[in-house]
Amino acid sequence: MRRHGLDAKILAGGQSLVPLLNLRLTKPKILVDLNGVSGLDHIRETSAGLRIGAMTRQSGVERSAIVREKCPVLAEAIRHIGHLAIRHRGTIGGSLVHADPAAELPAVALALDAKFEVLGDGMARAVCADEFFIDYLTTSLRPDEILGEIIFPVLQPSSGYAVEEVARRHGDFAVAGVVAVVDLDGEGKIIGPRVALFGVAPTAVRARAVEQAMIGQQPGNELIRDAAALLRDMLDPPGDIRASSAYRKRAAAVLTVRALTKAVQLCHTRRLS
Ligand SMILES: Cc1cc2nc3c(=O)[nH]c(=O)nc-3n(C[C@H](O)[C@H](O)[C@H](O)COP(=O)(O)OP(=O)(O)OC[C@H]3O[C@@H](n4cnc5c(N)ncnc54)[C@H](O)[C@@H]3O)c2cc1C
Repeated sequence: MRRHGLDAKILAGGQSLVPLLNLRLTKPKILVDLNGVSGLDHIRETSAGLRIGAMTRQSGVERSAIVREKCPVLAEAIRHIGHLAIRHRGTIGGSLVHADPAAELPAVALALDAKFEVLGDGMARAVCADEFFIDYLTTSLRPDEILGEIIFPVLQPSSGYAVEEVARRHGDFAVAGVVAVVDLDGEGKIIGPRVALFGVAPTAVRARAVEQAMIGQQPGNELIRDAAALLRDMLDPPGDIRASSAYRKRAAAVLTVRALTKAVQLCHTRRLS
């Protein structure tokens, strides 16, 4: 990558890159295939969280017992990606570096404040999720760097979570979607709510205003509806052939209500079990 710079492209699972090559939307002179490189395909539990190698296939993460136990929202989000055949080839790193605004994984990474370990020039640097995604299909990776690993924080055993999205057909990219995670304290008040949206802006976005409105409150339908209504001022989604801007905005609010309601219910259930 250092030798060829912008003339070279990394090939991971090929599920986004190969369609772009077919359509001649990208024309690299060199493909650097990571599929034969060892040390990039693993899931490890550490004190910092779950360290997942960039070349780990999405289906491997989805089915991993440790991911389902320690970070179940990640497995839940992957279930929504395309179809099984795509998830068998597609890698976790490829989805994050491709940074499609309608993809599920960037929203999970943002919601959980995941850390990205970036490798280049014999060095590793850590990048926070909110500094990794810059713009439409654009990350802060430099041309001679690769994504090596992602560190997803472990959720509390009692955390509630949900991933809600709307797509034109099963397996399509989402028109709009939301990832929500909540915890409740001993009095049943909300702590640490996390809400990230996808499909409604050039990158996935964290709905911090919604989160702020819920912190320290007793969860209830009215609170969740009022918090989700704050998205009206926060979002200005693009319109395209799949959905208008107004539809995406409305869908984001409706899906946020659904996701937060489910997350709170799950939190109650998990606290009892
Ligand atoms: C029909 C279809 C439906 C799909 N539906 C969805 C969906 O609903 N939701 C969703 O999120 N995705 C969807 N996808 C995309 C899929 O998730 C891709 O697998 C993923 O976006 C890219 O991962 P990959 O491993 O295939 O990467 P590739 O396609 O190989 O690479 C993608 C980009 O990332 C770069 N790259 C990859 N790995 C690294 C790395 N470690 N370091 C630096 N650069 C790297 C490549 O150079 C390229 O620019 C769909 C794909 C198809 C074909």
